[in-house]
Amino acid sequence: MVERILSRSDDLYARACAVSPGGVHSPVRAFRSVGGTPRFMTSGHGAMLSDVDGRQYLDFCMAFGPLILGHGNAAVREAVIGALDRGWSLGTAEPYSLELAEFITHRIPWVQSIRFVNSGTEAVMSALRVARAATGRSRILKFEGCYHGHADSMLLRAGSGLADAPVPDSAGIGIDAAQGTLIAPLDDEAALERIFATHGAELAAVIIEPLPANNGLLPQRPEFLQALAEQARRAGALLIFDEVISGFRIGFQGYAGYCGIAPDLVTYGKIIGGGFPVGAYGGRRELMELVAPVGPVYQAGTLSANPVAMCAGLAALQQLADGQLYRQLETLGGTLQKALSGIDGVTVQRHGSIFWLVLGTAAHTIRSPSAVPAEAGKRYAGIYHSLLDQGIYLAPSAFEVGFLSAAHDAGSITALTSALRQSLLPR
Ligand SMILES: *Cc1c(COP(=O)(O)O)cnc(C)c1O
Repeated sequence: MVERILSRSDDLYARACAVSPGGVHSPVRAFRSVGGTPRFMTSGHGAMLSDVDGRQYLDFCMAFGPLILGHGNAAVREAVIGALDRGWSLGTAEPYSLELAEFITHRIPWVQSIRFVNSGTEAVMSALRVARAATGRSRILKFEGCYHGHADSMLLRAGSGLADAPVPDSAGIGIDAAQGTLIAPLDDEAALERIFATHGAELAAVIIEPLPANNGLLPQRPEFLQALAEQARRAGALLIFDEVISGFRIGFQGYAGYCGIAPDLVTYGKIIGGGFPVGAYGGRRELMELVAPVGPVYQAGTLSANPVAMCAGLAALQQLADGQLYRQLETLGGTLQKALSGIDGVTVQRHGSIFWLVLGTAAHTIRSPSAVPAEAGKRYAGIYHSLLDQGIYLAPSAFEVGFLSAAHDAGSITALTSALRQSLLPR
């Protein structure tokens, strides 16, 4: 084995591990599932990342989704500088969140009222609280393979016994959180029917990523989402679409707009803040007016609707509203899918600018975690470092999706394709 020269990333990583768990502030940034040392990045411009050792990477992770306009978008930068000049935290009513709220509610009919928070996790937590208050019920149904942030009641997966009895996906989850959540498999109408027949009357809400993109990309059949909406309606449970990743990503109206199903409540994050920390939940006015100070549901935030983040978010959404970029990204996504699918042993699942590289062959579209080829994870770790050494930055996990942005072009696809071919050559 060749002795590796200690890089600055290695050095910083050792220091970071001494002062923070795993040297990172969100686990997937560590390289646990691909091995090795995470690269410490110093800057991002367009589609490129630069690390502390002066290496450049073509970025297909794009901060895990927020950067649909690429790194350093000029209009977002301008808006942020303007906000800084006016004061970056006011703690009062202000016009900046109003502008963003109007921009969204005027364009998404099922979002009549919206509340800004600081992360997708917070948005989900708050939407669930509203659903419980609205229905007077306490249980929530979620789906195996969907991620909804790290609130206790959402950090659960299906147990091995009863299909709907959950087990914690993390240490430190109280039993009441676990008992309040039921888990259903994706892509399975029969299971839905069973669960609703038994538990329908106890459910405050069903929450789903309508385009699940946190366990690979697992597109759901429209009929399945329709069946879910119908079951929820009949049971008197609210339908919550978690569009933290799909919102403003696959179209301005997210997946709800794409599939023509209006949820009762929707959660946003990632793109909505233009790369700054923002989350939001919204929906029908009478539901949102259950939230304080109008209604009895308490939810607050010292830094909520931070002016810098609000102005960044508005500047980002203004560039998306006419739909032009989505058409451009669909074309680019098609090019990527065609190029990568032409490689032996590689499967690509894609919707618009979200793609999932599966190192394995699948006869059918993968729609649930159980359908993922067994070898996919192992093979990913094997090629990851080869891609990195060739200047390609993908998320350091086989189960994270990739993102295209306004800063990518046909040349980016060519570079990714030839690097992937190279990394798959027998050594
Ligand atoms: C990223 C994500 C979250 C969590 O958002 P954070 O801002 O990381 O708290 C929740 N739901 C979905 C669908 C996500 O993709």
